[in-house]
Amino acid sequence: MILTAVAGAAAACAPHDASPPADTPAPPVSPTSGAPSRVTSPTSADWRRLARHVDGTLARPGSATYDTVRLTQNPRYDGARPLAVLSVAGARDVATAFSFAQDHGLRVAIRSGGHSYPGWSAGDGALVIDVRPLHRVSLSGTTATIGAGASLVQVYDGLGTHGRGIAGGSCPTVGIAGLTQGGGVGVLTRAHGLTCDSVAAMRVVLADGTVVTASADHEPELFWALRGGGGGHLGVVTSFTFRTFAAPTITRAYVAWPFSAAEHVVPSWLRTVPRADPRLWATLKLLGGRTHPSGPALFMSATWTGPASGMDAALQPLLSSVPAPTTDSRSTASYLDTMLTYAGCSTIPVPECHTGPGGALDRGAFAATSHIITVPDVDMSALLDRVDAAQGSGLKEAGISIDALGGKVDDIGAGDTAFGHRGALTTVQYTATYDSGPATTATSYVRRFRTAMKPSWGSGAYVNYADSSLKHYQQAYFGANAGRLAQARMSYDPHGFFTQPQDY
Ligand SMILES: Cc1cc2nc3c(=O)[nH]c(=O)nc-3n(C[C@H](O)[C@H](O)[C@H](O)COP(=O)(O)OP(=O)(O)OC[C@H]3O[C@@H](n4cnc5c(N)ncnc54)[C@H](O)[C@@H]3O)c2cc1C
Repeated sequence: MILTAVAGAAAACAPHDASPPADTPAPPVSPTSGAPSRVTSPTSADWRRLARHVDGTLARPGSATYDTVRLTQNPRYDGARPLAVLSVAGARDVATAFSFAQDHGLRVAIRSGGHSYPGWSAGDGALVIDVRPLHRVSLSGTTATIGAGASLVQVYDGLGTHGRGIAGGSCPTVGIAGLTQGGGVGVLTRAHGLTCDSVAAMRVVLADGTVVTASADHEPELFWALRGGGGGHLGVVTSFTFRTFAAPTITRAYVAWPFSAAEHVVPSWLRTVPRADPRLWATLKLLGGRTHPSGPALFMSATWTGPASGMDAALQPLLSSVPAPTTDSRSTASYLDTMLTYAGCSTIPVPECHTGPGGALDRGAFAATSHIITVPDVDMSALLDRVDAAQGSGLKEAGISIDALGGKVDDIGAGDTAFGHRGALTTVQYTATYDSGPATTATSYVRRFRTAMKPSWGSGAYVNYADSSLKHYQQAYFGANAGRLAQARMSYDPHGFFTQPQDY
């Protein structure tokens, strides 16, 4: 999540890494079930036949919508040229696309919100299966059924207007499908757990075209893996069933300090906030770059779901142990209004809260990578050196965001879902936004930051902030759950139909 330094409100979601569209051509896919022995590239007549056999829309190069629907959220991947983009109407279209791909040895790329950091859903040279048309949000009592193509703002609007909620990320255009499968952290994570912790079931199309329900009672190993293992490796989720909670009234705090206070604030924040009352969540940011001409900014954005008067007490252990802040503002609002504010859409109608045609939001180029902190130690000189390096770098905004975990996240066992970091203190994101052109400077900035912090923070990483350059990524993302994920992969995709990099 990217909260810029503008008074705690969210503006323009951003971050990502430098390698070329990661979908560089891989060997043609071997036919898995019932596919002809000789794989032939599809002819125009084959593509027309596919278009006739689906209820959704197939966009091919040259078609009216191709140059719009092929784009993902990060302009750095605009060079990707999918063979076609199939905007599906349902699970049957997904199965039809699978058998077409297998008949013709094509790779598929799966897309929901299009926010994959390494650009894996851009689908260069692949058949993109885009589930965004499946964005219906419906409620039956306290149970929500959410189409896998729903964006977070569509989810918050669909639930919040009925007094219900789930805990998810801040960025309005992030897809519920990618976010949930990687775990899902956000401003209510400590109070309500990861996004995937509220999932009761998923409908999934497997590589062989069968459509299954994954839940505690059905395909439990698939259900386990799709809660924290990340998307793109086991099947296409077409819908989620969520247990929702009563939408809380939320108090937000924006607290800023002079940058010179960082030496005190960062260590104290790590010792206090991740172990605070679960109703408190916070992110601590140290950001520099062109948007901070007078020097890097140091600020915290926090949310509290208890009675507004109780927030001071929850923040006391931190605020009593650091220099006085220069800014300390509070505001209280409903769940929906709070999530729309974090999304940067408090004054934008929800139907326009997106980056596509008719949308009011802009896409932003970025580079990012991550860390997971498990001990409250920090090498402040390395950290400050890297934040300072953003000044004069030419980057728009760059630095570090430290987001609290703990709370309800730790009510679930480390092996109960594939999410690899129960018990950790925080997720960390190193981000760098830039205007245009190559991502080289931004990418080397974020990767050098992670490298500089590895001596004190180790090598853990968050799969939803995927970094294609990570070595030993299985351990970094999934820790002790990596082996079981590899088994799930063998069971649910034995022929390796899904070829997304960083396979487990
Ligand atoms: C600006 C921004 C803000 C973010 N904020 C947060 C945040 O607050 N909290 C957080 O936890 N994460 C956050 N993220 C990270 C985000 O959760 C991941 O990038 C996530 O994978 C994006 O999902 P998507 O559906 O939008 O992207 P996509 O690129 O469409 O998909 C991401 C991955 O999931 C796979 N996938 C997509 N749809 C399906 C499906 N239906 N079935 C199976 N696999 C599928 C894709 O193949 C791809 O590998 C943010 C990312 C960005 C770019």
